[in-house]
Amino acid sequence: MDLFFVNHYRFDFYCTQGHHEGMSTTARVIVFDTTLRDGEQAPGYSLDVTSKLTMAHALDALGVDIIEAGFPIASPADSEAVRQIAAGVRRPVIAALARTRAQDIEEAARALAPAGRSRIHTFLATSDLHLSAKLRITRDECLDSAVSAVTLARNFTDDVEFSAEDATRSDRDFLCRVIEAVINAGCTTVNLPDTVGYATPDELREFFEEIITRVPNAGRAIFSTHCHNDLGLAVANSLAAIQGGVRQVECSINGIGERAGNASLEELVMALRVRPDRLPFDTGIRSQALFETSQLLSTLTSEPVQANKAIVGRNAFAHEAGIHQDGVLKDARTYEIMKPEDVGQSVSSRLVLGRHSGRHAVQSRCETLGFTLTPAEVGEVYHAVISLGEHRKSIGDGDLRRIVDRVRTPASASAAASTAHVETVGYGHGV
Ligand SMILES: [Zn+2]
Repeated sequence: MDLFFVNHYRFDFYCTQGHHEGMSTTARVIVFDTTLRDGEQAPGYSLDVTSKLTMAHALDALGVDIIEAGFPIASPADSEAVRQIAAGVRRPVIAALARTRAQDIEEAARALAPAGRSRIHTFLATSDLHLSAKLRITRDECLDSAVSAVTLARNFTDDVEFSAEDATRSDRDFLCRVIEAVINAGCTTVNLPDTVGYATPDELREFFEEIITRVPNAGRAIFSTHCHNDLGLAVANSLAAIQGGVRQVECSINGIGERAGNASLEELVMALRVRPDRLPFDTGIRSQALFETSQLLSTLTSEPVQANKAIVGRNAFAHEAGIHQDGVLKDARTYEIMKPEDVGQSVSSRLVLGRHSGRHAVQSRCETLGFTLTPAEVGEVYHAVISLGEHRKSIGDGDLRRIVDRVRTPASASAAASTAHVETVGYGHGV
């Protein structure tokens, strides 16, 4: 699959030298973004047509390969959003979801008509549990429906994806039969979702290795993973699936999606960027746009990003503990495995002043604000910061300016001598 090899991305700052010297290519993984479909259907995340179009433009700027723009049969608004995105966002492939029913596929095709490159994504459950309890059809009926849907979809586009819903809990022999049949019918991407977020990483890797080995025509399709985060394993499972042979990952900004969400796009992308020594794969994502894209989604949905969310949370690069601040000021690599600016986070968000802060960080922030303080003044400002931190979550630049002004008044200057013993590094936990 020569198409999916690109020049190796050089993560030039923190990669241990020598790991990939001489390696000129890395296997390319296709990023299929489902923020506007799986993500948008989660409670609290619905978006109107205008907001979806805004988000689609941001996903285009971010560099995703495929935007799943919606599920057109679900509502006229969903269909209209897909149509507008197909008309207005030209670089990525625009995908639309459809059950295996003919009406679904025809509606998806109508909505996708303006697209430069379109994909119909049709899905049907393959696990016995879903077939008997939900769909009330037999395995043979399932197989026939899947093949008919792919055949019909191919009348509208050459790019057809089939998802075997609940694939990871499906009978392996039957699943292989379905996959072989849909590939023969013209399916170009086979997505095997861990619909309920039940798999473990080693299991999913073995699952894909087995399926790709067993299905005789597997080489004619790209295999894809779609993981849910019910056990917090969606990203780990997706990475394991890549190691097991998949070359498309389905993911979403901020990991939004049904229940606990989908695999988080930003975490997947940065895991591949930071650890090419273990994961020699890359994507076309412009990582510097990750933070602003995450913030845009948060603004459009009015749903905040959790503070400690990896990569895009406001604390993802913040250090308040004095021992950490001292280390980062001396050499950022002591406590950071990537640079904030590589994901679009502000460098100034790095050091947070609060009651765990150290003198070194207080001094550094004062210098950034243009104050050159004597050692005695630094000591006094540091004490004031710690004291104020007892009552505040964090100390802003305005607070710090007021503290410096107060310390520099003649009345308080004489007290500075008593602060000479202050611990340089500060406290807070070190590990
Ligand atoms: Zn899903």
